[in-house]
Amino acid sequence: MDCLMAEMPFASTNTGDEFGITSTFEIYFKKRRKRTTRRKTEEDDQTKKKRQDQPNYFISLPITNPKITRGIQAVQDMVVQQDHRLSQAMVRYGSFHVTLLVMHLSSEEEVGTAVGALLESKDAVEELLQGKHLDLSFQGIDHFRNEVVFVKFAASDHTAALTEISETMKKIFQEKGILAGENRAFKPHLTFMKLSKSPELRKQVKKIDPNLYENFKNHCFGDETLYRLDLCSMLKKKQPNGYYHCESSITVGKSHESDLIKKALHRESLALLSKLNKIKELLSNPETRMKINRELFEDRHKQQ
Ligand code: AMP
Repeated sequence: MDCLMAEMPFASTNTGDEFGITSTFEIYFKKRRKRTTRRKTEEDDQTKKKRQDQPNYFISLPITNPKITRGIQAVQDMVVQQDHRLSQAMVRYGSFHVTLLVMHLSSEEEVGTAVGALLESKDAVEELLQGKHLDLSFQGIDHFRNEVVFVKFAASDHTAALTEISETMKKIFQEKGILAGENRAFKPHLTFMKLSKSPELRKQVKKIDPNLYENFKNHCFGDETLYRLDLCSMLKKKQPNGYYHCESSITVGKSHESDLIKKALHRESLALLSKLNKIKELLSNPETRMKINRELFEDRHKQQ
């Protein structure tokens, strides 16, 4: 109503000047104008605040299994072959991830607080995992409003586990005063194509046709073990390997890689230990000790 009044052709007419009187109309419109301006400022403030609260950081679960990334690249290639414009919508190799939590950090100080919250999350996540691997299987493709296309999680139990991790972390971050989480329900996904990557593209393409990736609709992309969680910036320059700028990371669960390293180290140390025991055994033999002493004596004699 206020806006409509303000837009009336006579709303800005100075009736007092024209008629030499202060009409009730003028008082009415002055009050209205004042209210409209106040409301507009409030709206502007709200829009500004909304923009200020927009997520600019997120907790990322990196996807690095070459089987998965190769599979995604195959779908991306197939889509681009059919519609070249969509190359601008592709998530680049090196930055594939699953977002566990988004947040807004407004200063470097807050980034520091978030790093603390991430480090604190390690124990909580370990507790949820109870010393087990969390192997995530990716199968099939789905979309959000045909604007964001992603690889789905194959099993729902993984979704439950990830939701629990995401919720636990959200609580830890929020307890530290960080604006974390979204209103909508958490739906873990692995995005590989989104129109929002290019405002130019958004003007040309309103929806991504599902037929473009129909052949991969039920494709098994592979598994990824949860082993690391990163606090990443959405806006800072990406790393040379294509992955996001990371403020901090934690490792969680038992990764296959660290298991393999531990096993290899164990094997090596067993071999070394057995050699060490043999040397000790030899040295404990009086005959060997005599031999060594004799050789040392002869050496010294030769040098003189
Ligand atoms: P991400 O994979 O985190 O880069 O998210 C890709 C896009 O999907 C972002 O623009 C999100 O806003 C959007 N998105 C994430 N979760 C949902 C959801 N549950 N419903 C609709 N859109 C979502």
